[in-house]
Amino acid sequence: MDDREIVERQLGRPPRAFRRVAVRCPFGLPAVTEQAPFDAAGTPFPTQFWLTCTHLASGLARVEAAGGVERWTVAAAADPELRASLARAHAEQRALRPELSGGIGGATRGGSLKCLHAHAAFALARPGYTLGDRILGDAAPMWPGSGCCTSL
Ligand SMILES: [Zn+2]
Repeated sequence: MDDREIVERQLGRPPRAFRRVAVRCPFGLPAVTEQAPFDAAGTPFPTQFWLTCTHLASGLARVEAAGGVERWTVAAAADPELRASLARAHAEQRALRPELSGGIGGATRGGSLKCLHAHAAFALARPGYTLGDRILGDAAPMWPGSGCCTSL
């Protein structure tokens, strides 16, 4: 199975605007993919880095279900270090992909983090994003002890 086929199984549908695997899990499988700015139909794809590992995606879904989006949005506004980290990462996202104007996950200025998966994917693909690393910490352990998406 090639990367694209594995990603299709992880997502349960063919990936849109798929460009490459950006990060692999310890089992060598795709964990984060990079998307082109536009899909085959020319539609903008605002999220450059997409979390595909089903284990990690459900871990973050649990964090979101427990109020994580609101909690991290508040933390990023209140803590100067996290606020600076978020601003740097949004700027880095815009510089990486000048074709689209949005920050991480297509975010416009200010407001809610919206999707913790996009911030976690960015932290894995672009090491040094403190806020994203802290969000990932909430979903620990990031990888199961054995297997993970190998059983898909
Ligand atoms: Zn996995």
